[in-house]
Amino acid sequence: MVLALVEHDGGAVDDISLEALTLARDVAAGADEALEVIAFGPEAEGVAEEVGAYGADVVNAVDHDALDAYAPEAYARAVIQCAEATGTEAIVAPGTDRGAETLAHAAAKLDVSMAAEVIDVEVGDTYEITRQRWGGTLTEHAELDAETNLLTVAANEISASAAGGEPADVSAFAPDLEDDDTRVQLTEVEESDVEGVPLAEARVVVSGGRGTDGDFSEIESLAGDIPNAAVGSSRAAVNEGWRPHDDQIGQTGNKIAPEIYIPCGISGAVQHMVGCKGAENVLAVNTDPEAAIIQKADYAVIADLHEVLPAVEEELESR
Ligand code: FAD
Repeated sequence: MVLALVEHDGGAVDDISLEALTLARDVAAGADEALEVIAFGPEAEGVAEEVGAYGADVVNAVDHDALDAYAPEAYARAVIQCAEATGTEAIVAPGTDRGAETLAHAAAKLDVSMAAEVIDVEVGDTYEITRQRWGGTLTEHAELDAETNLLTVAANEISASAAGGEPADVSAFAPDLEDDDTRVQLTEVEESDVEGVPLAEARVVVSGGRGTDGDFSEIESLAGDIPNAAVGSSRAAVNEGWRPHDDQIGQTGNKIAPEIYIPCGISGAVQHMVGCKGAENVLAVNTDPEAAIIQKADYAVIADLHEVLPAVEEELESR
């Protein structure tokens, strides 16, 4: 059997979980095994129809008072116990923070390897996997050969496709938790009060890095003058405390896909560039002609951003 972890909101399965379920279905077919799902929370059984359409036969609905709030170690314990009860040869989770954290705990408890960010699996005597490394800048081929193979599926890399099956049967699953399992638990969710255009939806993103020296006034002003534009930043600017983490673009920040990306005073580290590889055009402003961003940009202005940005704004206002 192949067990897929799905995340849901009130019984509606998240898109990334549907992508993971699509890969899990291929794994199950390759291994000639059935596909089952594990879902958490009081409304877990609500996923039955949707996951059935993706080929799952059974939903193991974990409804436990201690698990209404996310608790990574308890989730991992439940996943392991469910896998043992159902004779699982592979556990597949979505490449979300929770999917990765739950499976990492499960791998540690089982003392097996876990493969993250998988985009393809060939099932034979072992699992030949293809997975992304370094935020998608490298592709790695590797082999998994454990009694239970654990893998997370890279987000937004696989098209979710339903197979048209009947609603899955619902089976209540009650894990036997230990006291320590809930020592780390989600207690509060704080919504960030993002003003203006969300970065992921912006048509133009003007962003700043360490080269701003902490002065984002010209960047904010230019973004304010362009319709549907947002302000972004590098991690260095966030680490300096100049911008909130919500603004960060890159491997550990936002992924953006604007028509025009304007990085100012940003060197172009690989971890930054993976966040903006969806940009149609990159216009870099940097004083250093040797900066990596200059090689990667479609257009570049080699000059001080504090001179260039006011000049661009003046030109825009004169039109
Ligand atoms: P710097 O590298 O210091 O570059 C500053 C640039 O400003 C230089 O090119 C300089 O020539 C230019 N400059 C200076 N003065 C001016 C001026 N007046 N006008 C114009 N140009 C000027 N980074 C991210 O951004 N996002 C991530 O998500 C991210 N994740 C990471 C994850 C990991 C695991 C690791 C290890 C690193 C990560 N980083 C990330 C950090 C990344 O490696 C770089 O350190 C960071 O991107 C550098 O930020 P920067 O370009 O602003 O600063």
